Amino acid sequence: MEAYDLLKAGIADIMGECADETAEKFKKLTEYMTEYNKNVNLTRITEPMDVVRLHYLDSAAVFACADIKAGASVIDVGTGAGFPGLVMKLLRPDLRLCLLDSSNKRIAYLRSAAELLNLTGIDFVHGRAEEVSREKGYRDAFDFAVSRAVASLPKLCELCMPYVRPGGRFLSLKGPDAEAEARAAENAVKKLGGGNMQIRPAPIRGGEVEHYIVSVEKTRPTPAQYPRKNAAIKKEPL
Ligand code: SAM
Repeated sequence: MEAYDLLKAGIADIMGECADETAEKFKKLTEYMTEYNKNVNLTRITEPMDVVRLHYLDSAAVFACADIKAGASVIDVGTGAGFPGLVMKLLRPDLRLCLLDSSNKRIAYLRSAAELLNLTGIDFVHGRAEEVSREKGYRDAFDFAVSRAVASLPKLCELCMPYVRPGGRFLSLKGPDAEAEARAAENAVKKLGGGNMQIRPAPIRGGEVEHYIVSVEKTRPTPAQYPRKNAAIKKEPL
């Protein structure tokens, strides 16, 4: 099977269908990312089949695990080369997306990739997650925060939960340790204004890797003392 046949089948599994035009955009993105990656470190995954499975379908699995309404606001915390955020926007241009990363080189790449793909309605933010959530307009504000491969869940909750509005959800893309990480994060979730936590298997077509999405409900605003500074989060996770 060719990489883009797998992409179309995998996206159709999740979204019901994948238009040729959408598959073409993903193809264009792969070529652009692979070329850009020669000068700026974006990803170690560059084989088209792996890019499709481990970046695109893995990111798209968010839609299989959460009901994300038209026009919803989403922040991707530590987005790197745009996973899962950029993939979500390609599949759902109606979303109001914020891509946040502490690497300015990656943010510059994302701006140029979005321009290439004619994607609008994206807020690109260069900054640290634990600092930006203290800025006006970012706190208790988003319908969803999403994040993949940034930190273990107890630390990640402190970085991401402050962005979510009460009634919204934090969606964390995790591997086989999801259950243990979720248990370890129970205390953090409570302290940060979270409620119900669910772990949903997110099977990916063509892959043997186990993927899960941990979905955390936000029930009340995050108390003012959180997030703490990076050193405290690292030293003593909640
Ligand atoms: N989410 C992407 C993915 O799954 O491919 C990138 C994962 S990469 C391993 C981690 C990214 O998180 C890097 O781009 C790094 O710059 C960013 N990052 C780490 N800590 C951060 C923080 N405190 N605030 C913002 N970005 C952070």
